[in-house]
Amino acid sequence: MFDVVIIGSGPAGYVAAIRAAQLGLNTACIEKSFDSEGKSQLGGTCLNVGCIPSKALLDSSHRYSDALNHFSDHGIEVSKPKLDIPKMMERKNKVVAQLTAGVGGLFKANKVTAIFGEAKVLNSNQVEVLIDNKSEIIETKNIVIASGSLPINIPVAPIDQKNIVDSTGALEFLSVPKKLGIIGAGVIGLELGSVWARLGSEVTILEAMDDFLPMADHKISKDVLKEFNKQGLNINLGCKVTSAKATAKNVKVGFKKKDGDEELIVDKLIVAVGRKPNTANLFDENSGLALDEKGFIPVNDFCETEVKNIWAVGDVVRGPMLAHKASEEGIMVVERIAGKHAEMHYDLVPSVIYTHPEVAWVGKNEAELSESGIEFKSGSFPFAASGRALATGESTGFVKVIADKKTDTILGVHAFGPSAADIVQQGVVAMEFGASAEDLGLTIFSHPTVSEALHEAAMAVNGNAIHIGNRKK
Ligand code: FAD
Ligand code: NAD
Repeated sequence: MFDVVIIGSGPAGYVAAIRAAQLGLNTACIEKSFDSEGKSQLGGTCLNVGCIPSKALLDSSHRYSDALNHFSDHGIEVSKPKLDIPKMMERKNKVVAQLTAGVGGLFKANKVTAIFGEAKVLNSNQVEVLIDNKSEIIETKNIVIASGSLPINIPVAPIDQKNIVDSTGALEFLSVPKKLGIIGAGVIGLELGSVWARLGSEVTILEAMDDFLPMADHKISKDVLKEFNKQGLNINLGCKVTSAKATAKNVKVGFKKKDGDEELIVDKLIVAVGRKPNTANLFDENSGLALDEKGFIPVNDFCETEVKNIWAVGDVVRGPMLAHKASEEGIMVVERIAGKHAEMHYDLVPSVIYTHPEVAWVGKNEAELSESGIEFKSGSFPFAASGRALATGESTGFVKVIADKKTDTILGVHAFGPSAADIVQQGVVAMEFGASAEDLGLTIFSHPTVSEALHEAAMAVNGNAIHIGNRKK
């Protein structure tokens, strides 16, 4: 009998499995996914078709765009760079293969039993696994469900993974579509839109909502919209897609705007309208488990389901669908199974959009604080006043620090600009330790770094920034 059986080997499942084994628990991790050559595939969405391949392409396309558009700003003249998309894809696939093989290696090193097949929870002590159409029952003391998520499909734009694709298909194009349409101006639309726009596609994004990035700081959303339109993403808000038809030549997309019906003709269409929990056929009707109205597995703050000894973590439960949130939940759960005290600070899960410049934030934004009636003060620092940002030619955007009006405790850090993800990560560390804006202001930051913008924004909260006129709120 296993101490813990984990269903799914994405960042929630594989991290939970390794930590469980480190804690001395007899651990198995079940994964159903196989690649096109029939090889078992560890790593889940994140490593295979999500975070990692998208970042590999974001990096490659950024280098191309730099060589094409910005080298000459630095006095470097090169002949027009040539694209080799199959080679770019091969590099991306190599990165993925290296990391997924790494998970296999870590399983072996930590003595995690990997089982390849489709799992179904029968009850809190039994999991059925279908391996080559044969059923096997695995006995366990605890079950952790980490079955992840899948792209949402919309009936008006049926995916054929050739001309109308989801995010997985959009990571596999073997040539640059001349005209690319994207449904959804969310994280995937912006990141994959950026990849293909940098490589030369004429990109049009159709977003249903009238608001752009409503979850971000409002000034950042406004600036980001302006910047990405400038970069050629052509973001159209308030568009209700009514049809998408692929023909031999192109894809015709029909959509409604306030002023009436419109049509967009593109070579490829990406549907990126969100993801849904992957819970189909996951448990037996007698297991005692039930899904909520959106298909998520209901859990409490410790990721316990309603059935004792069955836990659920990652994209399959409430909260942001992010790899780092998934992994931390996985660790928390197996630590609790091992009898340790562990909890998640859900307020401190950072968000990042890996565009160029990056967009990142942690904690609350001003609108959320105002809605909750919490009094706050904020300070901002523009990268245009950062020596390092100017030296690298990356001076778009700003950092904002928000603090409690009375206690000065940091409540949020928001950034749009160079290395925004890493800058906000420093805010996460500060907030984890309950820092005040003054604490950050008293911290020594290396010069010249773009992180100094965080230092200055924190000082600006109390009107003490050095390199700008202070904008105290
Ligand atoms: P998953 O990674 O989805 O893994 C679940 C695993 O469970 C899968 O391997 C699946 O095959 C397996 N499984 C499902 N059912 C069964 C079953 N019955 N039996 C056995 N196995 C089963 N997040 C970030 O934080 N940063 C990013 O930069 C980022 N970029 C992304 C880019 C794209 C294009 C996409 C699509 C997503 C991105 N995400 C990113 C989101 C991130 O990938 C997910 O939040 C993360 O993978 C969730 O981890 P998980 O372990 O919960 O689920
Ligand atoms: P999303 O929720 O970020 O964005 C979807 C967008 O599509 C929204 O703006 C929504 O209003 C719009 N939309 C929904 N239905 C529509 C319709 N019918 N027509 C037009 N627009 C429509 O979802 P996503 O971009 O698909 O990403 C899925 C998940 O993957 C996200 O929750 C995110 O957490 C995760 N992800 C994270 C990263 C990262 O952390 N950098 C990167 C990629 C994906």
